[in-house]
Amino acid sequence: MEIVHTIAEARARLDAARADGATVGLVPTMGFLHYGHVSLMTAAGADGDMVMTTIFVNPLQFAEGEDLEDYPRDLDRDAERCEAAGVDLLLVPPVEEMYPQPVATEVTVAEIAAAWEGASRPTHFAGVATVVAKLFNIAGPCRAYFGEKDWQQLQVVTRMASDLSFPVEVVGCPIVREPDGLAMSSRNVYLDADQRIAARVLSRSLRTAVEAIQAGERSPAAVERLMTEMFDAEPLADLDYVGVVDAATLTPTDEIGDNVRILVAAQVGIPRLLDNTDAHDPAGLPDLD
Ligand code: AMP
Repeated sequence: MEIVHTIAEARARLDAARADGATVGLVPTMGFLHYGHVSLMTAAGADGDMVMTTIFVNPLQFAEGEDLEDYPRDLDRDAERCEAAGVDLLLVPPVEEMYPQPVATEVTVAEIAAAWEGASRPTHFAGVATVVAKLFNIAGPCRAYFGEKDWQQLQVVTRMASDLSFPVEVVGCPIVREPDGLAMSSRNVYLDADQRIAARVLSRSLRTAVEAIQAGERSPAAVERLMTEMFDAEPLADLDYVGVVDAATLTPTDEIGDNVRILVAAQVGIPRLLDNTDAHDPAGLPDLD
């Protein structure tokens, strides 16, 4: 695996690979890698010839007062994990390389980005869409792998790639969880032992919701109530939102039909934790005990 720090080096390697007939897979990350990230790299390696992972803690997607400075970092360990996952090229650009001057051009995705995470973090998705647009332009024609863990982000990026005709196929990959159900996240390191246990309420509430739907519940309000009650009983978890939404547009549904996603976000100690599931399929969510 080669590690590069400049856009020019990354472009040169990928252009040369494509000139030899290789297909490229891109895995954008902010580092402090866990098995969720590794699953994206493995998927990229299974589908294509050359895999580029990027590690960049993107200042544009952090608001004032968020954890930009404290975001966990461990480049040596990340590089080992990338190499073990079969990554060919690791791009770790410094901030000055990505943003040599104040950014005057921003990508915003209307509607899909407005609610849920967008309501809680109003500048977040413009920061994400802008850096992902840059990474797509750096990578060139490729498949790009994103986790379903950040469901809204996946829809925002998919819509952006389509609206702006990027030569990029966005591929969503399943959520990787800890054995007790907690979705893996770099920010889980912030949880102390009690908070770590309390954090199970996210995945447990989703599992409870899917089981109610499988038993015939079709009312979004009833499902939201069921989940909210579980948070009411967990004082260490501060619920931000529960949403029963159209999976692609993120608009609330009147009735739980096909293609519905259930989103949840909560503050547990320092981190905001996100999780979601298909409304009918609890894939990956452990049984309730
Ligand atoms: P991040 O480093 O948090 O920006 O995440 C980089 C990519 O990894 C994003 O596409 C995330 O959705 C994805 N990702 C993060 N956690 C998980 C997880 N537990 N399972 C699957 N994908 C994940």
